[in-house]
Amino acid sequence: MKLLEYEAKEIFSKYGIPVPKGVLIRAPEEVTAHLPRIGDAVVLKAQVDVGGRGKAGGVLMAEDATAVETARELFSREIKGVPVRSILVEERLAIEHEYYVSIAVDRSSRQPVVLFADAGGVEIENAAMADESAVRRVVVSPLLRDIPPFLMRELLGGAPKELAPTINSLYHAFQEKDAMLAEINPLVTTPQGVYAADAKLIIDDNALARQGIAVNRDLSEREREAEKHGFSYVELDGSIGVIGNGAGLTMSTLDLIEYYRGQAANFLDVGGGADQERVMHAVRLVASMPGVNVIVVNLLGGITRCDEVAKGIIAAGVAPTVIVRMAGTNEEEGRQLLAEHGYRMLESMDAAVRAAMEVAA
Ligand code: GDP
Ligand code: MN
Repeated sequence: MKLLEYEAKEIFSKYGIPVPKGVLIRAPEEVTAHLPRIGDAVVLKAQVDVGGRGKAGGVLMAEDATAVETARELFSREIKGVPVRSILVEERLAIEHEYYVSIAVDRSSRQPVVLFADAGGVEIENAAMADESAVRRVVVSPLLRDIPPFLMRELLGGAPKELAPTINSLYHAFQEKDAMLAEINPLVTTPQGVYAADAKLIIDDNALARQGIAVNRDLSEREREAEKHGFSYVELDGSIGVIGNGAGLTMSTLDLIEYYRGQAANFLDVGGGADQERVMHAVRLVASMPGVNVIVVNLLGGITRCDEVAKGIIAAGVAPTVIVRMAGTNEEEGRQLLAEHGYRMLESMDAAVRAAMEVAA
């Protein structure tokens, strides 16, 4: 789960990383009361879950006299389509230099990898793309509490040594917060010292319970519902709903829709041994997606019984057309039930997908 900048900064600060003085506001007028503490020159930063806010107009400078007006302007904007609901107001730093540092899990070595670049800030991706050597990387054993000095030297190269404690603190935060990514871009030097001018922290979804996070905000309401029932569920952009059992069969269904130039609305694998109840929840879940007017149910009856599936579909009683392809255990009973209730059950996956395409069109 991705944290917003202000949340990541609160955490980083607890690990001893210097962050600018700041406050989170939810309305423009709130800024006034905090200016005496924060300072006359401020930066207003939209707290939206998108990258590259700076370039997209989500980071604005203001003086004490213009702060309310600038906040009002920022609240009225959408940053890459996301409305601004809260703003982090911070003291403006007198930045001397912007560095880049991030820590992620390196999949190939299965260890934390620390990346550092001398030229941080909003252009980091272009810089790294143009010159790979612009980013240095070291892999750190997760068994170590600290980044060893020899690796820190390699990472920093000619950059100031005073950055080292902050990078080490970031490593502690990364480890203890079960992070997938901990990033400071830019990590800046100022006459007052080193600061994390920006902050990014992504917590491993599998560690949310251990981290005391009850709700994964990155999931939509439907994704949470799917998680509750144990469905493998991914939302896509199309209009044809898909329900299958087994990841392979479900993926093949998506492939076939793609093959016929259709667009699937989702991936939903109900899993093995789905009973009436589970099927009903799955059908209702997919039917609740906006823009879905047809659902393809493609199931193989093994432990799953086709009559149970049919009962689940009938019990769901949803508005979108449900087109079924099932084969296997109790197939005939299933077909009978569906026919009695006016549902179409087709002989092949190909026929079912083509029928769905017609309804979708
Ligand atoms: P991002 O675009 O979402 O990564 O937002 P950042 O928080 O990284 O801000 C983008 C850029 O705004 C930074 O790279 C800085 O150049 C600039 N910036 C942010 N905070 C300050 C500040 O306190 N003082 C100054 N001078 N520039 C800042
Ligand atoms: Mn940034």
